[in-house]
Amino acid sequence: MGSIRVLSDMVASQVAAGEVVERPASVIKELMENSLDAGAKSLEIEVRGAGSVLLRVSDDGSGMDREDALLSLERHATSKITSAADLATVRSMGFRGEALPSIASVSEFVLRTRQASASAGTEAVIKGGKMVAVREAGCAPGTTVEVRSLFFNVPARRKFLRSAATEAAHLDRAVETVALAFPGVALHYQRDGRAVHRLPAAASLASRVADLYGTEARAALLEMPGTEGKGIRVSGLVSRPGATRADRGRQFFFVNGRAVENVFLSTGLREAYRQMLEPGRHPSLFVHMVMDPQVVDCNVHPAKREVRFRHGAEVREVLRSAVEAALRQARADWLQPVRAHLTARVAPPAEHGPRAEPLRVARQPELPRPVLPAPAPDPGTSAPRVIPEEFRLVGALSRRYLLLEGGEGLVLLDQRAAHQRILFERLQRGVAGGGVAVQRLLSPAVFELPAREHEAVEGNLAALAEAGFGVEVFGGRALRVEALPDFLAGRDPQRVMEAFAAAAVSGGAARLRGQAAEEAVRRTVARLALDEGGAKDEREQRALVAQLLACQLPYCDPEGRPVMLQFSWRELDRRFGRD
Ligand code: ADP
Ligand code: MG
Repeated sequence: MGSIRVLSDMVASQVAAGEVVERPASVIKELMENSLDAGAKSLEIEVRGAGSVLLRVSDDGSGMDREDALLSLERHATSKITSAADLATVRSMGFRGEALPSIASVSEFVLRTRQASASAGTEAVIKGGKMVAVREAGCAPGTTVEVRSLFFNVPARRKFLRSAATEAAHLDRAVETVALAFPGVALHYQRDGRAVHRLPAAASLASRVADLYGTEARAALLEMPGTEGKGIRVSGLVSRPGATRADRGRQFFFVNGRAVENVFLSTGLREAYRQMLEPGRHPSLFVHMVMDPQVVDCNVHPAKREVRFRHGAEVREVLRSAVEAALRQARADWLQPVRAHLTARVAPPAEHGPRAEPLRVARQPELPRPVLPAPAPDPGTSAPRVIPEEFRLVGALSRRYLLLEGGEGLVLLDQRAAHQRILFERLQRGVAGGGVAVQRLLSPAVFELPAREHEAVEGNLAALAEAGFGVEVFGGRALRVEALPDFLAGRDPQRVMEAFAAAAVSGGAARLRGQAAEEAVRRTVARLALDEGGAKDEREQRALVAQLLACQLPYCDPEGRPVMLQFSWRELDRRFGRD
């Protein structure tokens, strides 16, 4: 007799439970998804003892009649697909018909459900997969599933649960995820008798985010202009540059309403922020993508967390350009209030005194014209030398900061951060434009570097060449520098190469690849910018401000730190108690 046996349904359910029901949060996730699939407009979620005592989800969805209620507890019973072909077009959250029986096989489980048209509902009680009772029940239309003593009969599973705090954090995350996936659904979430979230149905994702995380968190986000490309609709919110977080806890990708992880998505996001992230900082992101279900496979992960795209690179590009568009828009937004203020103003207030004359402008007109500095095609040497009229240079604060008066209030500008931004964008543009303008040194510089540093330069000659550094190995540990990118002209070549070596060495490897090499060049430029002293005189101050404002992203340095801080008139009045 062979040793292969068909597992009983009960054992099969427990095995399946191992995959679907990893922890209390997975139960809540499955139950909430069922409610949403049933068209619920409002969910009540209650949890006790981090989910090992009680997990309950009540909805106002379609409910089930008695026959369906019993069927729903059988393995592979689903109302959502009928054939494998349907998998390709599935729009519901569930489709495997596994969740309810799996959960019921490892808990004390009660299902109460009623269709609105029915006079009474059905209650089914199951313990460890065994049906204990089925009866008629008086209950509100909709469905309630109650799960107690999760894993009571699978001690091995129970042992794998983490601390109550960890499990609770997973539960919170699961609820947040659904709240963000379906802003239009009202959601009440209670943990150990305490209301965690009372979320009314929201009209938009933005207001749901504000309800969940507070208005301040909402204000730190940019709305992505809804875009559509390659059959993919993208909308959502992303961090303003400089308003990032130390963790990835607020990155949510939704594809057709399903929260997913996918490497193409995370790469698209990273690429969009490439020039703006301080190491160890992460943008928040709440993004909804809608696409033909045929081009996304949700059936690759037991909890459906990961998806596979048929055209991953396209999805990445669509996301990247949507995020970039939001970031570009941010620049215009930053100046927009200034413009509005100026348009509204009839005459410049007398106490602001005579406006300083920008360079190369013969006379300042009486009324400031609202001019938005368009992003200049090249903030390099040909950058405008004129400070846009919205800003009046007031002076310098030590040699570190410049003070500007803008239409909105006071602007403090960090000169070193400004230099970093300006140099960085010149480099960036040069590389993107197919070549950085190069300045030959009058006589080549030859010098030696310590072994490790020398190796770091030698391993990255190609990346250096592309960024406009004319450097070659000159035997032993010597290097010969013949040219530098023009925006570094006049620098000590040895200092420049030392800065690069330091950046490359801290990047880990002697030979850096692609993005890492680019990154090292970027860090070098940032480092060199720090050598710049503060502007010597007003002419230099003006030039600096003008160059900065001609940058694509003038408000943060290449690492995402702020370059300018704005204190609104209102804020100043408030500080002086004039409110
Ligand atoms: P799936 O969601 O993959 O179909 P489940 O085991 O989660 O499998 O649910 C089985 C079936 O039970 C669903 O297809 C649905 O018809 C029904 N069902 C489950 N939960 C609800 C609910 N909250 N309201 C209405 N019907 C439900
Ligand atoms: Mg389901």
